[in-house]
Amino acid sequence: DARKETRGFQTEAKQLLHLMIHSLYSNKEIFLRELVSNASDAADKLRFEAVSNGDLYEGDADLKIRIDFDKEAKTLTISDNGIGMSREEVVDNLGTIAKSGTAHFMQNLTGDQKKDAQLIGQFGVGFYSAFIVADRVVVTTRRAGSPASDGVRWECTGEAEFTVESVEKAARGTTVELHLKSDAEEFADHWRLRSIIKKYSDHIAIPVVMKKQNPVGEDGDKQEPEDEVINTATALWTRSRSDVTDEEYKEFYKHISHDFSEPLSWSHNRVEGKLDYTSLLFIPARAPFDLYNRDASRGLKLYVQRTFIMDDAEQFLPLYLRFIKGVVDSNDLSLNVSREILQKDPNIDAMRSALTKRVLDMLDKMAKNEPENYSKFWNEFGQVMKEGPAEDFANRDKVAKLLRFASTHTDKPEQDQSLDDYVARMKDGQEKVYYIAAENFNTAKNSPHLEVFRKKGIEVLLLSDRVDEWLMSHLYEFEGKQFQDVGKGELDLGKLDTDEEKQAQEKVAEQLKPLLERVKTVLDEAVSEVRITHRLTESPACVVVGAQDMGAQMRRILEAAGQ
Ligand code: ADP
Ligand code: MG
Repeated sequence: DARKETRGFQTEAKQLLHLMIHSLYSNKEIFLRELVSNASDAADKLRFEAVSNGDLYEGDADLKIRIDFDKEAKTLTISDNGIGMSREEVVDNLGTIAKSGTAHFMQNLTGDQKKDAQLIGQFGVGFYSAFIVADRVVVTTRRAGSPASDGVRWECTGEAEFTVESVEKAARGTTVELHLKSDAEEFADHWRLRSIIKKYSDHIAIPVVMKKQNPVGEDGDKQEPEDEVINTATALWTRSRSDVTDEEYKEFYKHISHDFSEPLSWSHNRVEGKLDYTSLLFIPARAPFDLYNRDASRGLKLYVQRTFIMDDAEQFLPLYLRFIKGVVDSNDLSLNVSREILQKDPNIDAMRSALTKRVLDMLDKMAKNEPENYSKFWNEFGQVMKEGPAEDFANRDKVAKLLRFASTHTDKPEQDQSLDDYVARMKDGQEKVYYIAAENFNTAKNSPHLEVFRKKGIEVLLLSDRVDEWLMSHLYEFEGKQFQDVGKGELDLGKLDTDEEKQAQEKVAEQLKPLLERVKTVLDEAVSEVRITHRLTESPACVVVGAQDMGAQMRRILEAAGQ
C-alpha cells in the first residue's frame, strides 16, 4: 500500500546530526564518498545474493553507480542498481541515525570540535553526511527481486522526523537525491564532482559514471551526452602494490572500515602456492569505542574471486587482533562458503596463522622504523595486545617483543619500554625480569617492595593495567629470563647480593630470631609466615603474598566480581 507515514528519529538523533553537520563543515565534500561507498556496498550485496539466486539481476548484471546533477534545480543524485531496500529496511537503516551505543557516544563528546569530529568519524554516520550539503534528502529505492510497486520513498529535511511511503520504481536499486543548501551549490558542477570522485572513490570496484560535459555542438544541435566512467573501477587489492598510491590505500581503508581517520599502517600481499589469496590489512589509528564489547563486529571483509561474501569474517585473525581492518580475497574457497564452513576448514587455520604473522611483522616493523607511530598504536591498542600471550601460544615470543611497559627506568606512567630494552639494561648477574603489579601507576611506583631494587639500581617493570596479571601469568619468560613479581614470596636476589651483604644478612637474621618468634605469636592466624626481609631499606615491615598465591590485583578483580 502507498500509506505515507511520518516517523521520528530517536532522541539523540537531532543533536547528533547537528553536531555532525557542524564538525564536518570544513570538509563538506566527504558526503559524496559516503554515498558512493554505500552504493558500492549495495552492489557487493547484490552480487553475493545473486550467487544463489541469479534472478535478482532482473536481466541487468552490469552494476554501476551514476552521478547526475542539475545546476538550475540545485540537485545532485547518486543512483545505483545494487541490492536496494524494502520498506522495512529503509526504516531500519535510515531511521536509526546512530547504531547501538549512541548514548555512550554522546557522553564522550568533549565540546572540542576537532576531537568530536574524530569521534563522529569512528562512529560512522555515513549516510547522514548528506545533510552537510543538503537541506532535503529524498531516497527512492526498490529491493532486487521485488515488484516495481514495492518501491519506497524516504524523505527527510535533517530535522527530527522523516517520512516513508510506497511508490512505483521500475529499476531496482537506490537513488539518493540531494537538494543542495545555498552554501553547497558548488557541488552541482561537473568538474568539481569529477575531482571529488577521483580523490575519494577511485578504488571503488564498479564504474562510477557521469554524463560527459555537454559538448557545445558546432552545428548547434543538442546531442544527448555520452556516459563516461570516472574511476579506475577495479578492486584495489587486485592491483599491484606499485600501482596503488598511499592516498588510494587510505581512501580504501575509509571505505571498508567506516572510519573517517587515516590508518596508521597497512600491508598488501598476494600469496600463491598451496593456498592462493590476497590480503590487505590495515592498522587503524584509533581504537573504536566498542573495542571491549563482546558483541562488537570484528574481522575482515571476505571476497572469493572478487565476489563479496561477507563482512566481519572473524576466522582469519585471533581475538587480540580484533582491531585489524581489511580484506581477504581467496581463489580457493567456494562462492557458497558460510561462517560454519569457515570454522571447520583447515585451510582457514593456515590462512589465519599466516595473516596473524603478517600483522605481528607489520607491528614489529612499525616499532623499529616508526617509533612515534608505534607509541600511538600502543596507547590505543596496547591493552588488547596484552591479551595476546594467553590466546596465542605459538606467537608468544613475537607478541612479548611488541609489549611496552612503564618501568622504574623512567618512573613515568607512559608505557614505552620494551622487554628488549629491559634486558639490555640488566645488571651483571641479574637472572630475572622483575615487575610489580598494583592497582594504579602511583601505587606501583611507590611500593615499599621497590626499595631494595632502587638502592641497587635494578630496574622493575611497573604494571597497573587490569589485564597485567593475566598477561604475566602467561608470559613465564622472555629470552630465557623468568619473570619475578617482587611483591610475591621470598626475594632471592641471587648473585645480585655481594658476599658481604649476604654475611651481614645472616648475622642480622640470627640476632632478630627472638623478635621474629614474638611477632609470629602475636599475629598468629593472621599470617602464614613472618620472615626477615632485606628488601626494605626505609619501611620497617611489609606484607607480601605467598609465591603460589594470587597476586593482589587479581584478588581485587575477583573480589569485585563477587568471588
Ligand atoms: P554504513 O555504511 O556504515 O552501514 P551508512 O549510514 O552509510 O552506514 O548506511 C546505513 C545503512 O543504510 C547501510 O548499512 C545500508 O544498509 C543502508 N544503505 C545506505 N545506502 C544504501 C544504498 N545505496 N543501497 C542499499 N542500502 C543502503
Ligand atoms: Mg556507509
